[in-house]
Amino acid sequence: MTMQPFAYERAASVEDAIAGLARVGGDATHTRPLAGGTDLLTLMKADVFAPARLIDVKRAAGLDSGIAATDGGVTVGALATLADLERHPLLVGPYLALAEAAGSAASPQLRNVATVGGNLLQRPRCWYFRNPRTPCWLKGGDGCPARDGENQHHAIFDTRRDDRPCVAVHPSDPAAALLALDAEVTLRGPGGERTLPLAAFFASPTDERRLETTLLPDELLLSIRLPAPPPGARSVYRKAMDRKVWAFALVGVAARVNLDGGRIADARLILSGVANVPRRATAAEAVLDGAAPDDELFARAADAALADAAPLSRNAYKVPLAKALIRGALADAAGMGT
Ligand SMILES: Cc1cc2nc3c(=O)[nH]c(=O)nc-3n(C[C@H](O)[C@H](O)[C@H](O)COP(=O)(O)OP(=O)(O)OC[C@H]3O[C@@H](n4cnc5c(N)ncnc54)[C@H](O)[C@@H]3O)c2cc1C
Ligand code: SF4
Repeated sequence: MTMQPFAYERAASVEDAIAGLARVGGDATHTRPLAGGTDLLTLMKADVFAPARLIDVKRAAGLDSGIAATDGGVTVGALATLADLERHPLLVGPYLALAEAAGSAASPQLRNVATVGGNLLQRPRCWYFRNPRTPCWLKGGDGCPARDGENQHHAIFDTRRDDRPCVAVHPSDPAAALLALDAEVTLRGPGGERTLPLAAFFASPTDERRLETTLLPDELLLSIRLPAPPPGARSVYRKAMDRKVWAFALVGVAARVNLDGGRIADARLILSGVANVPRRATAAEAVLDGAAPDDELFARAADAALADAAPLSRNAYKVPLAKALIRGALADAAGMGT
């Protein structure tokens, strides 16, 4: 395996970087923005991905790492590192899930370098995808060797759909937490800025777009906004790993709960490690909304969340694991944990 030669330039501003990305007609394989490099450079070193040019955006004016209170909510710059998120004084109470998710990711050294923007845009950890000698659909080929192969870490939802050949899971922990907090992302491309719900930023790969996001090749992610939370809301992130540290989620659960008159109002429950993109458990949220919290309710919500699961040959263990994690996360978010 050899890393292909590439050109490197440093963008002075967001406008510079976007002009650089657009210069090659937005060809996603030609020029890519570089942030912390912890995913992009790994893929390049493995010769899985070989852009001809990298545009370093870490010092681009208009892109920052700030985490600030704005209009009752919180705005996070795309360059904020996972370490910044893990220990920021604003990310407590209703926003705690984000700090917990960031703190559960990777290792302390990586968290000092890895940005939240790059985290949302990292590619799957599927071992076939990351092996340059294995062709697969997500890399532009035809089939998915994971479907009948080593699929222990793969998806348990949408695994039988002809329009979704890929069964890799999205590797981000912060993504699930941000979705539970109703985050929005602001993107900028040659035509200007657009803001969209994070839920619309993620999308399962299709034949035409073999990527996990709807970010266009000549757009930059500028910032993430967390709106004002419902009064009294608390959120948590819980993660099951095959070792205690430095491991991706086998399953992750982000839960946000607020109680109104002793009943749950407007719950959010997002699962990571189970589908191409983080999965909102809307059926479980419907079970929770308006109900008085107790263990029996949390168990019913967990059953509802997993009702549509269709595990692959080697990952049925994820179903009971996810249910247990959901029950614990909901109890903790409702302040009833042990
Ligand atoms: C050993 C290891 C363990 C890990 N464990 C976990 C884990 O447990 N949980 C978890 O969530 N993550 C984990 N990660 C992933 C890690 O968090 C990501 O690699 C990191 O956050 C990516 O950020 P970066 O700044 O390094 O991005 P880069 O590697 O620089 O970029 C990643 C992608 O994002 C694009 N990009 C970056 N910033 C922007 C922007 N502002 N606008 C547009 N495009 C952009 C790049 O072009 C590239 O395509 C792990 C990584 C490693 C190497
Ligand atoms: S799960 Fe997706 S990334 Fe992995 S081999 Fe199949 S198509 Fe490729």
